[in-house]
Amino acid sequence: MINALEQYDPQIYELVRQEGARQSGAIRLIPSENYVSRAVMLASGGCLTNKYAEGYPGRRYYEGQQVTDLIEKMARERAKKLFKADHANVQPYSGSVANLAAYAALINPGDTIMGMSHVDGGHLTHGANVSFSSKFFKSVPYPVNPDTGRIDYDQVEKLAKEHRPKLIISGATAYPREIDFEAFGRIAKEVGAYHISDIAHIAGLVVAGIHQSPVPHADIVSSTTHKTLRGPRGGILLCKAEHAKSVDRAVFPGLQGGPHMHTMTAVAVAMAEADTPEFAAYAKQIIKNAKALAEKLLEYGFNLTSGGTDNHLILIDLRNKNIPGKKLAKALDRARIVTNYNSIPNDPAPPANPSGLRIGTPAMTTRGMKEEQAGQIAGFINTVAENIDNESAIQEVGKEALLLCSHFPVPDHFIIPGKNNTV
Ligand SMILES: *Cc1c(COP(=O)(O)O)cnc(C)c1O
Repeated sequence: MINALEQYDPQIYELVRQEGARQSGAIRLIPSENYVSRAVMLASGGCLTNKYAEGYPGRRYYEGQQVTDLIEKMARERAKKLFKADHANVQPYSGSVANLAAYAALINPGDTIMGMSHVDGGHLTHGANVSFSSKFFKSVPYPVNPDTGRIDYDQVEKLAKEHRPKLIISGATAYPREIDFEAFGRIAKEVGAYHISDIAHIAGLVVAGIHQSPVPHADIVSSTTHKTLRGPRGGILLCKAEHAKSVDRAVFPGLQGGPHMHTMTAVAVAMAEADTPEFAAYAKQIIKNAKALAEKLLEYGFNLTSGGTDNHLILIDLRNKNIPGKKLAKALDRARIVTNYNSIPNDPAPPANPSGLRIGTPAMTTRGMKEEQAGQIAGFINTVAENIDNESAIQEVGKEALLLCSHFPVPDHFIIPGKNNTV
């Protein structure tokens, strides 16, 4: 499809081509990024982008919904089955809007919310001071324990008893350990708060059954669709039947207008792909790769917050290496290894130039890389760190990274549920 663009808009075609080449010629370790299947690409680039579908199936405000109703019902049913949820809303434009809608469904402006502190790994929308979420609501963030890098559930409970929030948010954007959603559910019940769980990063691990699911323990579960879940960029909300009406109303007409039907179509495709043994194998390999990468980094003398990882993500504490996170991230990018600089718990440096580097294994795993390659990549990271001011050494690593990429081409993968495709 993209090749046809060359005829119609060569300038934009050329830029899309360059981005495709960049994605193929780099080891992409940003933990929230991935490569979607060709089926997801085709669905999200199709004619559904032409259709307005304000409302919900059977209750639309414009005519011509013969097909959109069927697509939305199918996307919802697939999401409900995949996550074992009573109700699914597949309209949110993104994870951020999904969170906003989840709050709007349960609480009122001015109420107190408690989410993980942004500098400790919580998402902006969980009450960070630069986010709307701390302006509309009173935000009481919970930190992670600075010594262990882990959530201290006793401390969360103590804070909850002290501040009596209306809402507790579990889930994170930079937390390398498994989250005990049951504990969050229990704490929320104890203080009469709602519990919203945001699994944007780990949704793929949850549906594969290798991370505890929050669905039984949360009033609403929010997620993106494009991180480990490997769908198009979008958001979803899952909830218990009792909240179905308020969730739907909060999304539309509360916050959004017409849903992005092309995205929703691709979400439906991604949900079916995620419901396959191939997807479960990919999710398992994500964790194996992360553990192998972490182990090698520790051998090279890197400190990792919490000492390692249970999931797809690793947070490197660079203070002992005396390299700012931003400087290493930029050098790695020149060596075709794409990461992001990130705050670490209790970071003495400012968020704009923090002490950490965040990496993750979903995209490399989608390319078919395994533990051996994870070890090799740890070696690349170490070489760049050791030669941080030596540009020719950095360029040498870039050549090796490109060679590795050439052995693991971006898969033009089709996963057809029920057929034995390899990814
Ligand atoms: C990525 C992320 C989001 C936001 O998703 P967008 O689609 O970028 O708006 C929300 N919550 C968490 C935990 C995330 O990691």
